[in-house]
Amino acid sequence: MKLILLGPPGAGKGTQAKMLTERFDIPQVSTGDILRAAVKEGTPMGVKAKSFMDAGGLVPDEVVVGIVHERLQKDDCVKGFILDGFPRTVPQADALKQTLAALDKNLDKVLSLEVDTEALIGRLTGRRTCRECGRGFHVTFDVPEVEGKCDSCAGELVQRDDDQEETIRKRLEVYGQQTMPLVDYYRGEGLLATVDGMLDIDVVQAEILSALRAS
Ligand code: ADP
Ligand code: ADP
Ligand code: ZN
Repeated sequence: MKLILLGPPGAGKGTQAKMLTERFDIPQVSTGDILRAAVKEGTPMGVKAKSFMDAGGLVPDEVVVGIVHERLQKDDCVKGFILDGFPRTVPQADALKQTLAALDKNLDKVLSLEVDTEALIGRLTGRRTCRECGRGFHVTFDVPEVEGKCDSCAGELVQRDDDQEETIRKRLEVYGQQTMPLVDYYRGEGLLATVDGMLDIDVVQAEILSALRAS
């Protein structure tokens, strides 16, 4: 199963991707998680990416395209993968097409999670993220079993630097300008399935599974 999860910041891509990796035993490839790990390690790529991320902008296409190109060639992607947060621009989508063609792989589906802007802001301001594994929780919608600790790895839950209202608004604007065109892009390729992302987490998961069965 080779999937893309498309949708604005806060739509639930990471939450749904983590559930899908367990169900299908395929990796989640999150460019956001990979970039945050590079920032944490202080690698040259991380240092370069940090200023774009803190400002709520996009990291340059060539950087993320390179990350995904390498990642998809790893052994664990043989059975499939879930792309979360990539592609985010038309040039990234074009580059992905080339990478997949070179690897002789085809996408099965692009799932577009649709959520109202006001709900996105509430989700992102209340999001708490595991410092160790990147899993997301929410102060009211997805409360961890032990306060401040990740259910998966017991890592510390923190608020991401870019989950501040001003940066959130900037990220939503960037989404509308740079990423939203990909909905039509993938509709044109006959790969798009839209999913109502306003529903509860488990219901969204069920809708995704039914969209995948329909394909
Ligand atoms: P994305 O990866 O698209 O930015 P996340 O999966 O991190 O989004 O979700 C953003 C926030 O919203 C998290 O705090 C998460 O717990 C919460 N969330 C995810 N899906 C839902 C949902 N269906 N209903 C309510 N809150 C949700
Ligand atoms: P969210 O789903 O909440 O928007 P992500 O974790 O996917 O957040 O991304 C966080 C930040 O990392 C983005 O705001 C952007 O700066 C950078 N980033 C992640 N993926 C990409 C990408 N495909 N292209 C460019 N920048 C990216
Ligand atoms: Zn964790």
